[in-house]
Amino acid sequence: MWSTALLLVIAACSVSATQRVAVIGGGVAGASAAHYIRQAIGEASIEVFERNQLGGRAQEQDCDGVLVELGASIVWHKNYLVKDLAAAAGLECVSPPSDGLLAVYDGKELVFEQSTWGIVSLLRLILRYGFSWWSFRSAPAAMFEKFTGIYPLLDNGTTFDRPEQLLKAVGLYEYTQASLFEYLRENYGSSLDLLAKELIAGVNKVNYNQNNMQINALAGHVSLLPATEPSVFKIKGGNSQLASRVLQVANATVHCPAAVAAVQQLADGRFQLELQKQAGHGCPAGDVQAGAGQCAESPSGATAPQPFDAVVVATPLEGSGLTFPGLHLPVIPARKFQQTVATVIKGAVRPSYFGLSAMTYSAVMVTEEAAVPWSSLSLLGRTASDNVTLWKLFSSERLPHAWTEMMFEAGYEVVVNKTWSAYPKFDPPEDMAPFKLADGLFYAAALENAASAMEVAAIEGRMTAALAVKHLRAAAAAQQAGQGPQLVQAGAERAAEEGAAAAA
Ligand SMILES: Cc1cc2nc3c(=O)[nH]c(=O)nc-3n(C[C@H](O)[C@H](O)[C@H](O)COP(=O)(O)OP(=O)(O)OC[C@H]3O[C@@H](n4cnc5c(N)ncnc54)[C@H](O)[C@@H]3O)c2cc1C
Repeated sequence: MWSTALLLVIAACSVSATQRVAVIGGGVAGASAAHYIRQAIGEASIEVFERNQLGGRAQEQDCDGVLVELGASIVWHKNYLVKDLAAAAGLECVSPPSDGLLAVYDGKELVFEQSTWGIVSLLRLILRYGFSWWSFRSAPAAMFEKFTGIYPLLDNGTTFDRPEQLLKAVGLYEYTQASLFEYLRENYGSSLDLLAKELIAGVNKVNYNQNNMQINALAGHVSLLPATEPSVFKIKGGNSQLASRVLQVANATVHCPAAVAAVQQLADGRFQLELQKQAGHGCPAGDVQAGAGQCAESPSGATAPQPFDAVVVATPLEGSGLTFPGLHLPVIPARKFQQTVATVIKGAVRPSYFGLSAMTYSAVMVTEEAAVPWSSLSLLGRTASDNVTLWKLFSSERLPHAWTEMMFEAGYEVVVNKTWSAYPKFDPPEDMAPFKLADGLFYAAALENAASAMEVAAIEGRMTAALAVKHLRAAAAAQQAGQGPQLVQAGAERAAEEGAAAAA
């Protein structure tokens, strides 16, 4: 009899109702959050709400046989979390084609031209910039040394309620408090000025469409890593797969399209989501399979069926349309987002636009002061059907027809025009929102105005997952502490009844 009662007591202590977690946003941050919550709490129910397409700002499009990344396109080789997520999802990381030469344009002429001969490129670098580039060469790697301190913290499950605490713990906070321009001036005097205005600004315009005065020094160094140590990868088949496959492997239920309009807290501390009616593209059926990462039909305009024990907001609040009625949130500093337009053009670049007799470069960056409406030009490949070159341009606004006519030979065709609310308009000294908005409510995109990249999104997802897990465990423990005595009592009573029945 006593052994039966003991079993009931043990069962009562280990049984807890399945905890439900909502993740708002199906980009890299949302997928990362779902993955790490699943790793920590195998039996949790994880539901992801995505209003548009899984992948978020990582989206690709097939342009006549060339898979074009319209948003996030490359990942630096030491971005360990993206690599881990890709491996967990069974995705292959491949090197993008690296053939082709780079040039830098100041709006009138090419001021730097890479040569097929490494030694010639080196001489050109020295001739134009002296040895300043040499002194700066190791600066992004030195920053990354500190950045790698984030990984053991994440592995140990260390949590921080605020991004500043995380950045201070690894010695990176100061980088977010000055512009890249100020940082370079402070550390190198004016010796880097020309290099900064041309090559460094060129890279930052490609990556963030912002100049050295606007960008904070952390984002500036993150952006320069692939330039100083050029080893990058992308996900075979398209970067958007990182989110969709990771969600599948995490066995998350994906509601898509499902735009969350409001997050409300109930009297018992749990959360209810209110969904918005909205037309979207829907989940790519091939990417999300029922039973794995289920693509559930979303109950548009309704309230999600049950309350959630924790909510991770895995999207920048700006532009999300999310409201938090009745919740007293901490101060969330206002951020603006940089608009970037990705234009894919099929056709031939006019060499004369760059003062050339033949277009020998596959990538052209622009200097800080170049008075042109585009910020980068890169060769994507050749169309499968007619072997014509495809080019991608980034710009802040849709490129005026007059400009594309000037840059491309007659007969060119604009294949894609995609406008992004791309990344924060950096505004050092950066003031960041907390990761923890309330008990059980977490905000991944809080770190994005320190630097914006898929790796940063993966880190944000993992940090908010750790915070959510901590909250869920504490809630489960509190629940057990509250219910335990009753359950023990009930078990003893049932055991006593069983004993009485057996005696009879
Ligand atoms: C043009 C461009 C080029 C880039 N290049 C690179 C690069 O080469 N390498 C790199 O590492 N990074 C790059 N980035 C940055 C990178 O894409 C982002 O930092 C990263 O993808 C952000 O991921 P996220 O999950 O935080 O946000 P997102 O990808 O924006 O995901 C948030 C998701 O939430 C959804 N959502 C928003 N509101 C709601 C709501 N109310 N309800 C439900 N769902 C909602 C959105 O639809 C979106 O899918 C680039 C970005 C752009 C735009």
